[in-house]
Amino acid sequence: MTGRGERVKERLSRLVRGAADALVRAVYPEDITCDVCGGELTADTRYTLCAECLEKMPFIRGHRCLGCGAPISDEADYCPRCQHTENVFRRNISPFVYKGEALALVHALKFGKKKYVARLLGAAMSDAYIESGERCEVIVPVPMSDAEKKRRGFNQSELIAANIGERLGMPVLPALVKVKDTPPQKELSGKARAENLKGCFAVAYGEYVKGRKVLLVDDVFTTGSTANECARMLLKGRAGSVTVLTAAVTERKLSLEPPEEDVRQAPV
Ligand SMILES: [Zn+2]
Ligand SMILES: [Zn+2]
Repeated sequence: MTGRGERVKERLSRLVRGAADALVRAVYPEDITCDVCGGELTADTRYTLCAECLEKMPFIRGHRCLGCGAPISDEADYCPRCQHTENVFRRNISPFVYKGEALALVHALKFGKKKYVARLLGAAMSDAYIESGERCEVIVPVPMSDAEKKRRGFNQSELIAANIGERLGMPVLPALVKVKDTPPQKELSGKARAENLKGCFAVAYGEYVKGRKVLLVDDVFTTGSTANECARMLLKGRAGSVTVLTAAVTERKLSLEPPEEDVRQAPV
């Protein structure tokens, strides 16, 4: 065989060896464990969950609120919260209800600092976004103040946003900044949350969002105060529209209690 023939043969055999290695890694992945139970996975699945845990994930399927995306009964278009609150964003999309395993995963990321969870949440959120039919142009993560980021060491919304951006091939732009430190939102009522957030966010790079359809990414959608305040600032910065994508949305209780107050300002 000529020298050239030998080189081709060698290259081919290298390629085959590489492909075989990749196949072995795919079938017998090393150190890949379920993000929920820690059990070993026999294959590198899209959601890094074992079959049992995947089954237990509180996916939102079927009828949902046109505003916040929470599951609701078939008869209504909007949940009790969205019937009484003006959302300045188009809608919120979440793959999960904020309970059970989904809540545990968000807590593992935020408080347990298990950054790898951003991959699973990013996969589920990307799928929910594609299924929703919404089409945006740029991703903007909900920011943290410098002090908050220093306390936690990272911003979970940025981590999730980076993963989604990679999956969807969309640019992730830090167009919003949080200019004021706030007490943790979970300790406050709906009205206090909205008040608490006024003037907290600012558009840092207006040119990133001007005239563009923005996908605002956060970890959890609860009262919608954060989403509304961020959307209000983005629209003020002349964003074309704002759609919200969160990992999980809290369940809407069908009660006769007065609705939670929320940010009610119309788009500027
Ligand atoms: Zn598991
Ligand atoms: Zn709703």
